Amino acid sequence: MVKAVRVHGPGGPEVLQIEDVELPPPGAGQAQIVHRAIGVNYIDIYHRTGAYPVDYPFTPGYEGAGEVIALGEGVRGLALGDRVAYVGSLGGYAEARNIAAASLVKLPRSFSFETGAVMMLKGLTAQYLLRRTFHVKKGDRILVHAGAGGVGHILCQWGRALGARVIATVGSEEKALIARKAGAKHTILYRYENFVERVREITKGRLCDVVYDGVGKATFPASLDCLRPFGLFVSFGSASGPIDAFDISLLTQKGSLFATRPSLFAHIARRRDLEEMTHDVARVIKEGEVKLEVSGRYRLEEAAQAHAALETRQTTGALVLTP
Ligand code: NDP
Repeated sequence: MVKAVRVHGPGGPEVLQIEDVELPPPGAGQAQIVHRAIGVNYIDIYHRTGAYPVDYPFTPGYEGAGEVIALGEGVRGLALGDRVAYVGSLGGYAEARNIAAASLVKLPRSFSFETGAVMMLKGLTAQYLLRRTFHVKKGDRILVHAGAGGVGHILCQWGRALGARVIATVGSEEKALIARKAGAKHTILYRYENFVERVREITKGRLCDVVYDGVGKATFPASLDCLRPFGLFVSFGSASGPIDAFDISLLTQKGSLFATRPSLFAHIARRRDLEEMTHDVARVIKEGEVKLEVSGRYRLEEAAQAHAALETRQTTGALVLTP
């Protein structure tokens, strides 16, 4: 038996209940790992509330790091005791779990389990957003919404390292300081200021090449007005709620814009891409271009507190659960 967070139906943070569950031996192609650190992400909230459909009961959690303690039949390239990390299959909020061996990556020796547990979902997302969805280069003007958040904090740092001029929106003065320290040249308190007007002022009317928007409903369609003609709107999340359906001719009116709604899971569907992207994330961490900030640590039993803090905008950077 292992302790795991279980959810029996959609709801608020209170539906995250700690229970003892059976952990069978790993099946063919699986590894069993004991978690040392577990990442908490906004997607865990979408699963908990039912915004992203799941089968009940389930254990939330899409990102973690730990050690291999058993191997199923046919697993090659992994050994007992290996330090590993992963992203992308429900079941993370648990002391230990079984997982497809093909989804594991080995942690560089110099990386802590905590780094491993927060570099996968958030780090790989920042990687594809900056290097694949839009190839950010020196001199680009990029707008990052929620620039002090888990993904946003990495986007600010990495964006600056690529030579971009980063403008970040943030929910408070404290978050503005964090985003500026991370590399945002300008911050906008979008709860109080009109962010479109501020972007116009800051860029002297030239507007942005790309907008990274993980906020959703609250920043749409205004985000489109922050883009220069032919600019790219990247809607990668909906922390404030999903964007309503819109008439595609809006993109014409706003300057022949491009828009995309990408997902990490399409980007890492092939093992080769997962490895390349992880390698790139590890590189920027090793070279000091990106520093992952864990600003909230909770015990597994405190998962509800972590969720409550995340969805009420009280957090910055990354959050982890420690079993
Ligand atoms: P964050 O740490 O960024 O937390 C969300 C932040 O959004 C809050 O801190 C808050 O920052 C801002 N926000 C604005 N309006 C609201 C609101 N009404 N309710 C709650 N938060 C609000 O979370 P993550 O880093 O885990 O995720 C960021 C986004 O990225 C999410 O939308 C997530 O779904 C998405 N994502 C998408 C992926 C993909 O591949 N498509 C992969 C990974 C994440 P502030 O106070 O500064 O406004």
